[in-house]
Amino acid sequence: MNSFAKLPSVDRLLSHPVMDPLLEQFGRSVVTRQVREQLASARMAVKEGAPAPDEETLLCSIDTAVQQATRARLRTVFNLTGTVLHTNLGRAVLPREAVDAMTAAALNPCALEYDVESGGRGDRDDIVNALLCELTGAEAATVVNNNAAAVFLLLNTLAQKKRVLVSRGELIEIGGAFRVPDIMQRAGARLVEVGTTNRTHLKDFAEAVDARSALLMKVHTSNYAIHGFTHAVPEVDLAALAHSHGLPFVVDLGSGTLTDLSVYGLPREPTPNEAIAAGADLVTFSGDKLLGGPQAGLLVGKKELIAKIKKNPLKRALRVGKITMAGLEAVLRLYQDPDRLKQRLTTLRHLTRSESDIRNAAEQLLRPLQTALAALPVVVEVVALKSQIGSGSLPVERLASSGLAVRPTCKRGAGVLNRIEIALRRLPQPVIGRIADGALVLDLRCLEPCDESTLAQTLTAEAFLAC
Ligand SMILES: *Cc1c(COP(=O)(O)O)cnc(C)c1O
Repeated sequence: MNSFAKLPSVDRLLSHPVMDPLLEQFGRSVVTRQVREQLASARMAVKEGAPAPDEETLLCSIDTAVQQATRARLRTVFNLTGTVLHTNLGRAVLPREAVDAMTAAALNPCALEYDVESGGRGDRDDIVNALLCELTGAEAATVVNNNAAAVFLLLNTLAQKKRVLVSRGELIEIGGAFRVPDIMQRAGARLVEVGTTNRTHLKDFAEAVDARSALLMKVHTSNYAIHGFTHAVPEVDLAALAHSHGLPFVVDLGSGTLTDLSVYGLPREPTPNEAIAAGADLVTFSGDKLLGGPQAGLLVGKKELIAKIKKNPLKRALRVGKITMAGLEAVLRLYQDPDRLKQRLTTLRHLTRSESDIRNAAEQLLRPLQTALAALPVVVEVVALKSQIGSGSLPVERLASSGLAVRPTCKRGAGVLNRIEIALRRLPQPVIGRIADGALVLDLRCLEPCDESTLAQTLTAEAFLAC
């Protein structure tokens, strides 16, 4: 019998009892496709002279192929990078209260644009309008897809074909192609650069403002800091100058936490309240940075300007859905109870977690990782680390943290570290660490205590066999 003939048929494989759970879970068409593909590659191998795989081997590779093909592409991971708000890892981890509200809104019809009192049409912004006004001191608020959209919509509404004055020291680029000059151009506004990179004075603005000006704008330099011989114009002065010319003064805050972080022992970050109090007519900020909520862009400020922005047809293109609204409302409500915010708001809990608490977690995980890596030429130890806040918030500040460092004990150590790093990413729930200064580092700040044992259990010697 030739080798091809030894290969079982599609039907025979499908009717094998070990396929039953796969068929039950993933359905006939998904499994059949993987059966065909595995048979095709077996035939290919036979053609090239390899022996035909036995049925058991085939069934096993089909199982693996089905599992892989059906695994979600959006995987949950352990963020052990030491960056709390990691843009590539989805930024803020949402609090339970938000998740519950989002689940309810997803599973049910909800009064997104429906006024339950009157039975008439409602406005989706009304869901969070009063909360945002209370928390920021603004008169009105509106919500769009993200802060980039908020800035874009603001400029497009208020400054199309007109000039916007921004200090040269604030022409920022946020990762992922958000650049102030580019957004300005796409929104149809003309950027007027004021002052110099390191020093901009009120008189620079006063000289630049003219009849073609639409706005004075301040952009929070959220992801970098300029030190040394510097000067920026205080918001109150910019607001007064703008108002003396009958122009609005707007602030793109970026992160925009709603509380004074220094209360929690964290570095200070400007808040929307402060900008509003200083005279800003509009402030924009993100929902998923320090605020700790779902991805959204928040615009707060003068009633009349918010109303104008909401009338822009692009608002419809940039609006958020019910799930975002549900999560945002729940997160904003947490801010109404500052006493428990630190426990309930996940982002704040991670940011304020004490070094000793994190060190305890590291000590718990030390043994499991040492055991899993025992066959490899490395040492594992508990080390002091510095976490960063991330997402362009407080770029220079670091938080004392703790974690595990894996260091090679042999000469060509970089290779083994890279292989361990890959093996960690291939775990059922990928572990994302970082390689720095010749060590593979796992910062445990963002590891939820309830996940510690799950992680410990997945750290097995088998997981690192290929290293
Ligand atoms: C992050 C940031 C943005 C962009 O916000 P997204 O929510 O990512 O769209 C814009 N401006 C500043 C100052 C920022 O820090």
